[in-house]
Amino acid sequence: MLGQSERPTPAQIRRAPKVLLHDHLDGGLRPSTVAELAAESGYDRLPTTDTAELGRWFRDAADSGSLERYLETFSHTVGVMQTREALVRVAAEAAEDLAADGVVYAEVRYAPELFQERGLGLDEIVEAVQEGFAEGERRAAADGNRVIVRTLLCAMRQNARATEIAELAVRHRDAGVAGFDIAGPEAGFPPTRNLDAFEYLRRQNAHFTIHAGEAFGLPSIWEAIQHCGAERLGHGVRIVDDIKVHDDGSAELGRLAQYVRDRRMPLEMCPSSNVQTGAAESIAAHPISLLRRLRFRVTVNTDNRLMSGTSMSEEFEKLSEAFGYTLDDMQWFTLNAMKSAFLPFDERIALIDDVIKPGYAALRSEHLFRTPGRA
Ligand SMILES: [Zn+2]
Repeated sequence: MLGQSERPTPAQIRRAPKVLLHDHLDGGLRPSTVAELAAESGYDRLPTTDTAELGRWFRDAADSGSLERYLETFSHTVGVMQTREALVRVAAEAAEDLAADGVVYAEVRYAPELFQERGLGLDEIVEAVQEGFAEGERRAAADGNRVIVRTLLCAMRQNARATEIAELAVRHRDAGVAGFDIAGPEAGFPPTRNLDAFEYLRRQNAHFTIHAGEAFGLPSIWEAIQHCGAERLGHGVRIVDDIKVHDDGSAELGRLAQYVRDRRMPLEMCPSSNVQTGAAESIAAHPISLLRRLRFRVTVNTDNRLMSGTSMSEEFEKLSEAFGYTLDDMQWFTLNAMKSAFLPFDERIALIDDVIKPGYAALRSEHLFRTPGRA
């Protein structure tokens, strides 16, 4: 079983079944689609219409360390997604792209309230995106790539429409909307501002995650869990502030970190994005390594594939390069994510038993077969 300590090749990483819990619809467009939708809708504020240049511009802007430039990237993607047709197309392509990358289950999120500039109603927006995901799933399956895509609806922290969006999520929960999230600036907008929405969701037995502990520290994580009742944490990187690592490598957990680990609270970590926003200094310095070692319920995610120029495979490649992660590690992260999905229990188990475990087993035996005599 020597092969198990080897790092997987990029091709193996791509073929390995992957599960994605944190991905923004308006952060994952193809650069060519941004340019085409802009041309079709008369949107004239793009920095360039050259597709390759545009892709680079998005990554550079997100890399710049300037919040203004980072936010500008979303003004363009959101700007070209203001029609029903655009939403259907973007959602369909997202499903196709994820499937082609070896993602077998994804929860993609977006804030419906951002797509009302040209008069679309909230329900119309949700229906368009669901139509797009279904179409993308069909096209991917025809290509031999099976993916299941579910939706999380986000409310924006600063807009005070959280209850309305929570009700929207519950209204569409039997049509592919798996849960709710709250996004937007953490500083100055604590999750407790939206307590009504979270209480409503809990009364409805509905699922939700909260962006917390990305830009802001432990209080934000604590409020999200203990006041709001979040089932998962978007990012949650700052939980490391409650962990002391001694010189001998042993770790001492504060009460909050202990609670998060004891309760198997899923952390939706997005390594490349966390580096771009300054939540982590580099991939090599990302807390994911420590948290994986301490066996927190860590998951690996993309956040914004366009702005970070990334994919699930790319994230795993970077982690494997930085920390020597093997197929076993990848499977561990993937099972963590599947166990934490807002999909019914029986469907999660089916994906684990029928797709994920056999997928990794096949890759492992191939690995051994390629290196005969070395095991
Ligand atoms: Zn996010």
